[in-house]
Amino acid sequence: MKKTDAPILKYSAKGRSRKIEDFLLRPPVEKGADQIARQVLEDIRENGDSAVLKYARQFDRAPQKMVRLRVSDTEMAEAKKAVDADFKKAAKEAHKRIAQFAVAGLREDWRMPSPQGGWLGEKFVPLDRVGAYIPGGAAPLASTALMTLTLAQVAGVPELVACTPADSVGKVNPYILYALDLAGATEIYKVGGIQAIGAMAYGTKTIGKVQKIVGPGGPYVTAAKRLVYGDVALDMVAGPSEIAVLADDSADPAHVAADLLSQAEHGTGSEKSLLVTTSEKLAKAVRIELAEQTKTLARKEPVAKVLERGCILAVVPDMEKGIELCNRFAPEHMEVITKRAESVAKQITCAGAIFIGPWTPESVGDFAAGPSHVLPTGGTAAFFSGLTVEDFRRRVSLIHFKKNDLKETASVVEAFGRVETLDAHARSATIRLKR
Ligand code: NAD
Repeated sequence: MKKTDAPILKYSAKGRSRKIEDFLLRPPVEKGADQIARQVLEDIRENGDSAVLKYARQFDRAPQKMVRLRVSDTEMAEAKKAVDADFKKAAKEAHKRIAQFAVAGLREDWRMPSPQGGWLGEKFVPLDRVGAYIPGGAAPLASTALMTLTLAQVAGVPELVACTPADSVGKVNPYILYALDLAGATEIYKVGGIQAIGAMAYGTKTIGKVQKIVGPGGPYVTAAKRLVYGDVALDMVAGPSEIAVLADDSADPAHVAADLLSQAEHGTGSEKSLLVTTSEKLAKAVRIELAEQTKTLARKEPVAKVLERGCILAVVPDMEKGIELCNRFAPEHMEVITKRAESVAKQITCAGAIFIGPWTPESVGDFAAGPSHVLPTGGTAAFFSGLTVEDFRRRVSLIHFKKNDLKETASVVEAFGRVETLDAHARSATIRLKR
């Protein structure tokens, strides 16, 4: 076995493998990144634009001579010219599908009658100003522009801000710009990493504060987002990508290997790939395929890093144990390539998104299917969910009582007012009924 070969490990009821247990316990936020994020955020809070520019030059690839953070109309026009027709067609198709899924996910305002003639309900109102982070470190994630702001566009948010790192000549990748334009971005800034999150969270002279920050990122973005929670609303921990494939002997090892590699190539080296299978034969065949297919990939280095420390091929005694392991892993992406895949998928309860059957590679979710590819990582799929159109609206409760509703509930209000020693609460109900 080579150093870069993923280990085949047994997971059974009797003896749990230490390596598998460690693999499951991946931290959602990296410690080193957390420390740097604290310092940078503090500086941005105090010094605004000058600190943002300083760190864009230091941590993004932005050149020293870059002084303007906002993408100009000329830059956007140049980007639109630079992008090839094939990509434009693909981006429009993806945008259409993402928008259709978002429209289907919009909740309607609703009401229910209260017992004595009034009503209760909820209404949904678009946020006013949101910010999307579009990663640009290891790969230019144009798809993320569509997978974030399209949802905000459908929700009806008027101000759509995007931040993404500049390259070494101070430009943003034209494909990202094209996708951002399609998704309705109203302001785009050439800033990445912690400094982008700080600028959007606290606001600077150039980049106005947003109400909510969404979007994925590497370890630095993930750490920074966690630290600004409360200054702004956030979507979730959407860090380095993960995939778990639950497969039996019906799965094609070449397909399984290709899917495991798809998440390993992102480039931060913190990505995770897990195969859970009832077939040791499949695990062995997948291991050979992983090595073979890696040779033909452009990003060999980051992939090798993930295969070495972030990929496990786990053999389970039966499907029940496999489902248990997958739910414990709570992966961002979960593929089920088994016989009766739909019924197996029903038992997966902790995952950002589930891809069911042999014709649903995870990459369709990344680029084309419709649901957002911004999904929880680091085990947080056990309690966070993926980005949806409702992330871009506030939900407001509505209560409209009639006199008899108040009569009916006054004694409840009084009782709680008494116990919680909050007299004024009780009085505001009873005073109305005394008149
Ligand atoms: P990124 O834009 O998040 O990170 C690059 C930025 O990190 C740089 O511009 C820089 O500002 C900052 N940085 C780099 N080194 C630093 C250092 N030493 N100190 C301080 N800041 C530093 O892009 P990325 O790194 O390519 O990460 C994107 C990640 O997003 C990938 O891991 C990918 O798997 C993940 N992703 C996740 C989802 C999801 O929904 N969970 C979706 C798409 C992508």
